[in-house]
Amino acid sequence: MRLSTLKSIYQCKCPRCHQGDMFLRGKLLTTKFSVMNKSCSHCGQSFEPEPGYYFGAMFISYAINTALFITAWVALSVVIPDYSLTLLLSVLAVTVLVFLPFMYRISRSIWIAIFVPYRGDEFPDSPDGAIQK
Ligand SMILES: [Zn+2]
Repeated sequence: MRLSTLKSIYQCKCPRCHQGDMFLRGKLLTTKFSVMNKSCSHCGQSFEPEPGYYFGAMFISYAINTALFITAWVALSVVIPDYSLTLLLSVLAVTVLVFLPFMYRISRSIWIAIFVPYRGDEFPDSPDGAIQK
């Protein structure tokens, strides 16, 4: 896996050209964080190739959230060694809500990057398209 692919996943860019945005720009912290563009503005790659395409992204989200839960649990155990179950559940609930927009976007970005290969050589102005030849 190339570094630019990891960068495009993190930035929620098109997996095919690493240029177009998958989601509306600047809306991560608003209620429109889940609104996706229909296709890439740069190469035309559809961001929803078929209905229910992102069903599998739930498994990515589950794995990331499990890691997040464990991290929050360990952090709580270090900061407050004799925490209550109510406090633990409250911390987990707040953690999920705070990271929800990011998790939603990153899990979809990872999911589409698994199935849509990078074609930078077809788009010369892509980040490392010139290197591809
Ligand atoms: Zn694209």
